[in-house]
Amino acid sequence: MVKDIVVYPDKRLKMVSDEVTEFNEELHMLLDDMYDTMVKKKGVGLAAIQIGIAKRVLIVNLPEDDGDDVAVNKEDTFEIINPVFTKLEGSCKNQEGCLSVPGFYEDVERAASIVMEYQNRHGEKKVLQNQDFLAIALQHEMDHLNGKVFVEKLSILKRKKFEKEWKKKQK
Ligand SMILES: [Zn+2]
Repeated sequence: MVKDIVVYPDKRLKMVSDEVTEFNEELHMLLDDMYDTMVKKKGVGLAAIQIGIAKRVLIVNLPEDDGDDVAVNKEDTFEIINPVFTKLEGSCKNQEGCLSVPGFYEDVERAASIVMEYQNRHGEKKVLQNQDFLAIALQHEMDHLNGKVFVEKLSILKRKKFEKEWKKKQK
């Protein structure tokens, strides 16, 4: 089911999300709702708090670009629960956006290479290694679990520019 997205500066985006302890039907419904919402809003990633649920759950789906067609397959979705980075190395800069900050894009500096441990929807432990766009998306979504939005990583100058643009947009 498609849910409403929590939009900046909603205070819920500052919450530190709780560990998931039960891998039950409720969790599976949450994951399915997150997927429906992400696809509907044309995002590539979503954290549970972005639909108002403060649990350490995130999903990422990087659409395959087959020329004109951009295909989104549910089977390609990374469903990530209780993630922990065990390695963050190097640095890179990429333009990021966020469904909770619609219409705003800015360069953000992140680690270039990651190793992440997490659990899947059945509670099985997994390890993921990446040094591509997935690594960036996971760092972005992980920030949400810790109560941070990407605009908070901007330099003071860029942050000021953002706040000004954002205020204008809200009117
Ligand atoms: Zn985001």
